[in-house]
Amino acid sequence: MRIGQRPGEVCDTAERGALEERFYQLYIAVEQSPVATAITDVTGRIEFVNQRFLDVTGYSREELIGKTPAMIQSGQTPDEVYRDLWATLAAGRVWRGELLNRRKNGELYWESEIITPVRNDRGEVVNFVAVKEDVTERRRQENELRLLATAFETGQATLITDAEMRIEKVNQAFTDITGYREEEVIGKTPKLFKSGRHDSAFYARMWGELLRFGHWQGEIWNRNKHGDIYPLWQSITAVVDDAGEVRNFVAVFHNIAERKRMEKELEQQATRDHLTGAHNRRAFDVAVRQALKQAEQDGEPFTLLLFDIDHFKSVNDTHGHDTGDEILRQLTRQVGDSLRSTDLLARWGGEEFTILLPDTQLRGATTFAERLRCQVAETRFQGLSITISIGITQYRPGDSLDDLIVRADEALYRAKEAGRNGVVINSGEISRVTEA
Ligand code: GH3
Ligand code: MG
Ligand code: MG
Repeated sequence: MRIGQRPGEVCDTAERGALEERFYQLYIAVEQSPVATAITDVTGRIEFVNQRFLDVTGYSREELIGKTPAMIQSGQTPDEVYRDLWATLAAGRVWRGELLNRRKNGELYWESEIITPVRNDRGEVVNFVAVKEDVTERRRQENELRLLATAFETGQATLITDAEMRIEKVNQAFTDITGYREEEVIGKTPKLFKSGRHDSAFYARMWGELLRFGHWQGEIWNRNKHGDIYPLWQSITAVVDDAGEVRNFVAVFHNIAERKRMEKELEQQATRDHLTGAHNRRAFDVAVRQALKQAEQDGEPFTLLLFDIDHFKSVNDTHGHDTGDEILRQLTRQVGDSLRSTDLLARWGGEEFTILLPDTQLRGATTFAERLRCQVAETRFQGLSITISIGITQYRPGDSLDDLIVRADEALYRAKEAGRNGVVINSGEISRVTEA
C-alpha cells in the first residue's frame, strides 16, 4: 500500500525516503492502535489486521490473512444486518453497526464496527477498512440496566430519595397507590405524605433505626393525593457509598388496608356474637382474666353485671322468634351505647348478657345498673315493652372467673325471685337495690 502516494509523483530519493518514513509512522499508529483494525480487498479477503485484532479474536495473522471475516462470524447476527452492510459498501458508502462475533476459543462478543471503502486515483473502491470496538461489556451493562428498569417499573411501589430525603425517582406502582405522578413529587420530601396519625416520637424512632442499622420497616399511615389516609407496610433502606456516606434512601411499600380489613373481620368473627354483634363468651373470658390479673397486681377494682330479659319466652311465643331476635339486637345496641370504651358487653347465652366494668366500684356499678334497667323499661323494642333483671358482683381478692359468675348469677336469680325488673347486689351477702 502507498497511502498518500500518487504514481509519478515521487522522483527523487530524498522525497521517497520521507514518504517511507511517513508510511512507517502510519503503519505503527495503526498496528499499535487500541482499536481492532482490518483491511480487506473488495471481495472481502483479509489483507491486513493489526495487533489488537489478533488479541480480540485469538487468531494469528497467518490464520487470518487471505480469509474473509466469515471466520469470526458467530452465525447469530441477523441476515439483514449483513445485507445492509454489503449494500452500503457496494454503494461506496461507510457502514456503521454492531455485529455479534466469535473468538477462536468460541466465546461470543459484540463489536461496534465502522467499515470504510477506500478508493484509488480513479475513484474505484479497492479496499475496505474496518475498525472495530468490543462493546460486549457496554451491551451487558445496557441489558442489566434495562432489566433493572423493568424490575423497578413492574415491582412494588418504590420511592428513591437523595441523602436529604428529596425525591429523585418513583415508579408506576407508587403512582397507583399515592395518586401522585413523578413530576409532582420530584424534589419534594416524603413529608408530603404525612397523615398526622403518628407523633414525632414515631418518626424519631424510625429515623434512629434507619441511621443506626441502615434499615427500617414497619406499618405507617400515609395520606394520598386525594386526602385519603391508608395503612402501608414500608421498608426503607439507606444506600451508602464506598466511604460509608449515605447517598440515597430507597423506600418500598404496599397498601395493607385490605389485609387489615380482613384481619379485623377475622378478629370480629372470633370475638363477636353473630346475632347481636356483642362480644362472645370467649372475648368476655379473656377480658375478665385480664381484669383479674390487673386487680391482683395493683388492686384495681372491677365489677360484673349479669342481666336477663324478663319473660322473654312469652315475647317469642306471642310475637315470633324473628321479633325476639330483633329485640336482642336492638337491646345490644342500646346497652352498648351507654358503655364507656373500656367496658365490655358480652352475650352470655340466649337472652342473658354480661357486662364487665373495669376500674369501677360497687357504688358506681349499682348506679349504672339502675339507670340501665330504667332505660330499658322506658324504651319500646319492636313496639313492645320489655324489662330486664340485673345481678351485680364486685371483685374480691382470690376470686376466679367462676366465683364471680356464680355470685352474679345468684344475684340475678334473687332479682327474678323478687319480682323481676330489678337490680340485686351479691357482695357476699345479698342486697336488693330496686325498691319493690
Ligand atoms: P325469665 O327470664 O323472666 O325467668 O323468663 P324467660 O321467659 O325469659 O325465661 P328464660 O330466661 O329461661 O327464657 C329464655 C328464652 O329466651 C327462651 C327463648 O324463647 C328465648 N331465647 C333465647 N335465645 C334466643 C334467641 O337467640 N332468639 C330469640 N328470639 N329468643 C331467644
Ligand atoms: Mg329471661
Ligand atoms: Mg334466660
